[in-house]
Amino acid sequence: MTARTPAAARLRADACPGALQTHAAADGALARVRVPGGLLTGGQLRALAAAARDLGDGALELTSRGNVQLRGLAGGAEAELGDRLAAVGLLPSASHERVRNVLASALTGWAGGHVDVRPWVRALDAGICADPALAALPGRYLATLDDGRGDVAGLGGDVGLLALSPAEVALTLAGTDSGWRAHPDDAVALALAATRAFLDERAAQGGTCWRLAELAGGPERVAGRITPSSSGRHRGHVPSPRCAEPLPSLLGGASGSPLVGTPVGTTRQDDGRTALAAVVPLGRLSAEQADLLARLADEVQLTPWRSVVVPGLAEHAVDDAAAALHRTGMVLDADSAWTRVTACAGRPGCAKSLADVRADAARAVADGTLPAGGARQHWAGCERRCGRPRGEVVDVVATGTGYRVGWS
Ligand code: SF4
Repeated sequence: MTARTPAAARLRADACPGALQTHAAADGALARVRVPGGLLTGGQLRALAAAARDLGDGALELTSRGNVQLRGLAGGAEAELGDRLAAVGLLPSASHERVRNVLASALTGWAGGHVDVRPWVRALDAGICADPALAALPGRYLATLDDGRGDVAGLGGDVGLLALSPAEVALTLAGTDSGWRAHPDDAVALALAATRAFLDERAAQGGTCWRLAELAGGPERVAGRITPSSSGRHRGHVPSPRCAEPLPSLLGGASGSPLVGTPVGTTRQDDGRTALAAVVPLGRLSAEQADLLARLADEVQLTPWRSVVVPGLAEHAVDDAAAALHRTGMVLDADSAWTRVTACAGRPGCAKSLADVRADAARAVADGTLPAGGARQHWAGCERRCGRPRGEVVDVVATGTGYRVGWS
């Protein structure tokens, strides 16, 4: 891993948008609503759908961190959006709203995994919001909570928890094994201690880095600063420090790609019911689709792969639910090209874009003319390649006179 020296650190604070601190895009203000673990209740989905209709462009954008964006907001809409989000529990802390980036394993608690990390999501989010000092985290800060299936541990978290068994959890820092271990009951306290240690080390190195990996010697120095027992939040169990046993390959290979991709289609849950996982083409979820999801389940999960998990379906309800999702354009076929194609906002939303990449990508899918033989690919309107998934992806980048296609 390449660590940056303090001299090479960021010269400005990150400008990640939030729900209240919006970004001025070419099509209006853009608000990013943090959804820890991607977990949304039906009521929260309905509130987001209504906000998209009333205040935005009628759709919700799913991000690679399982968050949601609203586009096309009129100037001054932030206050009403904030009120609506707060009313349904989507804005628990105005001061911490941009730093609540938490990825959780897809299907956790419903199917597979050593532990159910949903309680970790709630506890970590509450712990972050309860600590005034953690409001200083960069908006790029990311926590990954992996229940052992290895789907999010390799997705570039600054701090991560990875269940190794039902009784043991590893702490990861910038995607590497920190050596720290904890019981699942103590894992969130360890992650919070690591988060505070990241801020302490960041301050010691000048206080400008956005990511733990950008700190000189980041993982090692942050691991050395962790004092979980002094956090006051441990419940009597101090993790055994510096375990030398290497983690399995759950952190991904050299490419950083996870071993497990997005679930698509049906999954039999541990309780015998069924979960449906549907890809949302180009991550653009219409208000109507969001309302449909809210009717189908009390709680859904957004995944980092721009798909949605609809859990808890009784056997007799599965076919009708799948058909309803399919009718609205959501994809339940694991072989669909839509499972391999992502795109940035492009025109008209981004002033930097050299093309309407979403329209062009959708046309290529419909016509069967995707480049690179239809391999996993990311379409972008310029070289920044916003939203590019981690791992091996073909870049399809607008040049102004067409698209440049290539691996990078
Ligand atoms: S990749 Fe370029 S065109 Fe696309 S959203 Fe980012 S800045 Fe805009």
